[in-house]
Amino acid sequence: MPRTYPPGYCPDRCSGGRSDRQMTVQEGMLYQLPDTVRAEITAHGGAKRCTYCGLVYLSAPLQMGGRLGFWNSGVRGQGWAD
Ligand SMILES: [Zn+2]
Repeated sequence: MPRTYPPGYCPDRCSGGRSDRQMTVQEGMLYQLPDTVRAEITAHGGAKRCTYCGLVYLSAPLQMGGRLGFWNSGVRGQGWAD
């Protein structure tokens, strides 16, 4: 039986990805990301990051769950990881 997750949960369904851990990607973080990722986030009106696993994903409703990669992930290391 797959677990079910409440709305706003981390798209990767990580063990600590509750909705209160999903933070909007701010300007200061945006400029540290690769150009292609930054362009995609800007084009789609913003992104969120799971502060638990580091997953960055598009926050627009139509792209909800659009996974881009990881930023400063505890598992994948510091910086950006696809
Ligand atoms: Zn997560």
